[in-house]
Amino acid sequence: MALFVHKYGGTSVGTVERIEAVADKLQTFRQAGHDLVVVVSAMSGETNRLIGLAKSIQDQPAPREMDVLVSTGEQVTMALLCMALERRGIAARSYTGGQVRILTDSAHTKARIQDIDVVNIQSDLQAGRIVVVAGFQGVDEQGNITTLGRGGSDTTGVALAAALKADECQIYTDVDGVYTTDPRVVETARRLDRITFEEMLEMASLGSKVLQIRSVEFAGKYKVPLRVLSSFVDGPGTLISVEEDDTVEKPVISGIAFNRDEAKLTIRGVPDVPGVASRILGPVSKANIEIDVIVQNVAADQTTDFTFTVHRNDFDATRQILEQTAQELGAREVAGDNKIAKISIVGVGMRSHAGVASKMFDALAAENINILMISTSEIKVSVIIAEKYLELAVRALHTAFNLDANETVSE
Ligand code: ADP
Ligand code: ASP
Ligand code: MG
Repeated sequence: MALFVHKYGGTSVGTVERIEAVADKLQTFRQAGHDLVVVVSAMSGETNRLIGLAKSIQDQPAPREMDVLVSTGEQVTMALLCMALERRGIAARSYTGGQVRILTDSAHTKARIQDIDVVNIQSDLQAGRIVVVAGFQGVDEQGNITTLGRGGSDTTGVALAAALKADECQIYTDVDGVYTTDPRVVETARRLDRITFEEMLEMASLGSKVLQIRSVEFAGKYKVPLRVLSSFVDGPGTLISVEEDDTVEKPVISGIAFNRDEAKLTIRGVPDVPGVASRILGPVSKANIEIDVIVQNVAADQTTDFTFTVHRNDFDATRQILEQTAQELGAREVAGDNKIAKISIVGVGMRSHAGVASKMFDALAAENINILMISTSEIKVSVIIAEKYLELAVRALHTAFNLDANETVSE
């Protein structure tokens, strides 16, 4: 008998039939004697639909009202799931984030969980009920509804599992685990039995949206056993593990992540003097725009070209800021490209293997794909390339690093 936190994503609860199927699954767990706290997402497409409604009225709706609006999606699912459970004779009770009291900061649309009151949930569990919680939402000190950013129900699940000291947090989704890369892009992608937190954190932050990055951070920090599984087919899924598994020989690269949401800007012919980087990036950061990869090249004429990437949504705003900075610094020009993508190879095995980056560059060169920028850390190498080559590049790297399903690596 264990305590599980389950999280069901949008596709898994996308229709009434699927909600009924989730109720069947929960009944099986219940019959095996387990306690269950279930976090649900909005039915698939619902959050986008709500955002669309808001945008049809106002370009930039107030973040507070956006949260009031988009949090309704999860509330629908939680009630329907409780009804499906009750119909099966299983006692269940639903809670919004505010009713649990998932306390967050007040950063509307990207709030962070600060504290969770588990009293209500625990007394329901003791009374033999399944507790169903709306994912993605919380409440701030003043009682305002907040949301946790897209994909935030994963974080609700892991945070509840941490607060309740659950035996495992199980993320049920539309794929049967974490794959070497997005299985919807590379058909030969392989499911991983295990992946380390460190690797999963890199994969999530570099664009693999199978788990929201904050949920992985939470799981690592509070040592929550975390598993990704399919709602539709039974199987072991993927365990996100604290320890590296020494029993199998680790491949050098565990996975490939990619992200189409990037844009690149260059300010050319800036005087190469101390303080220039801060003069260029300072106003961008002040506008709350996150900067990702940065490259600076010095030319023979004592000037420098400075290039960096931002989220594609921030492209126009960043360009405007840079035009202003370019005038102040007497730069030659500002150039931009928002049709780029970032591909990253990730693996803790990189620490003990040389030549990983050059193997990546060779594989891309063999396909005639030009690398625009490079960035590395201890367990990843990222490159920026033209977006039109993204799929070709991911496939080429997947094969070059022996990740294809028909290869025999460690299984
Ligand atoms: P949910 O609605 O259940 O939260 P998401 O759409 O957020 O589901 O996440 C699941 C999707 O993540 C999959 O359908 C898949 O396309 C995508 N994905 C991206 N990278 C990976 C990966 N490395 N392994 C598995 N799925 C991935
Ligand atoms: N419904 C929210 C979204 O679509 C949260 C989630 O599904 O995790 O982003
Ligand atoms: Mg998700």
